[in-house]
Amino acid sequence: MYRVGKNLYINLTNRCSNRCAFCVREGQSAVGEAESLWLDREPQEEEVLAALRRMGAADCGEIVFCGFGEPTERLDALTGVARQIKSEWPGMRVRLNTNGQGSLIAGRDITPEFNGLIDCASVSLNAANARDYARVCRPEHGEGAFDAVLDFAAKAKAHIPEVVLSIVEGEADAPACENLARRLGLPLRVRGKM
Ligand code: SF4
Repeated sequence: MYRVGKNLYINLTNRCSNRCAFCVREGQSAVGEAESLWLDREPQEEEVLAALRRMGAADCGEIVFCGFGEPTERLDALTGVARQIKSEWPGMRVRLNTNGQGSLIAGRDITPEFNGLIDCASVSLNAANARDYARVCRPEHGEGAFDAVLDFAAKAKAHIPEVVLSIVEGEADAPACENLARRLGLPLRVRGKM
């Protein structure tokens, strides 16, 4: 758990179905600040909630499920904690930062499970086509992962009020990604490198 400005960030796991070339989990950059984000073990739901209370969740701007790892690798903990957040702090905005492979990981469409729990999903697009995605993100599920990400984002629109695609500045063909986002009817955000 860590704070950035008024927002609280929950790190549920180090696990991820990608090995992105630019990820701070990779290589020499996984030291310093990143090192402190690495979990020795995955926290229980109650531990996450206790940390939220301790860190003043009642007064924070937004609670974000984020990484290091991919939050949907622990779908039950993710939805369990989100449900508790909505119960304990009604009206709290909850965001999910995801690689968009949650349904691929679970082997079913998980997007309905976010109904009423997640207010915003930021889905990492990272590339404009499957081949570039596989090269940059090195997904364990291979080139098919890209279509799964697009499918997740499209389906999530029915269950999450705000769905945004994102790319890392300088790591993707921005105009091609903008075209793709437009076709999907989703906004595209360009984020800075970590
Ligand atoms: S999807 Fe995110 S956590 Fe996973 S390897 Fe890529 S940047 Fe790292």
